[in-house]
Amino acid sequence: MKKVLVVEDNGDNLRLITYALRRYGYEVISAETGIKGVELAISERPFFILMDINLPDIDGLEATRRIRQSGSNGSIPIIAITSYAMAGDMDLVLAAGCTGYFEKPIDPLTILDKIHALLEKNATSPAGNK
Ligand code: MN
Repeated sequence: MKKVLVVEDNGDNLRLITYALRRYGYEVISAETGIKGVELAISERPFFILMDINLPDIDGLEATRRIRQSGSNGSIPIIAITSYAMAGDMDLVLAAGCTGYFEKPIDPLTILDKIHALLEKNATSPAGNK
């Protein structure tokens, strides 16, 4: 069973995303802070990571940078979950090292299709789509 890490401090969103992932057959581990997310990303080496941007300690962008800098996790897909509605967010998210992003609210019926399309696109892109 493939393990997925969800970094999300909002309990309702975490439950929704966990439900969608488990329904698909993924094992879910989670963190409610950026620091804990970085620790789990390094120690558990998940198949991919869903990363909330607004977190209580370091934000999802900083957490992503730290995971990327940890070396062994340089190529793991990290998908940002953002509620930002500002122009230019996509650039910020990709510059931090995220593979792609989704905007809240999360739809548990469609999020897995979106995730898999993104993972496939990333895997087949010669440059890794970073
Ligand atoms: Mn949040």
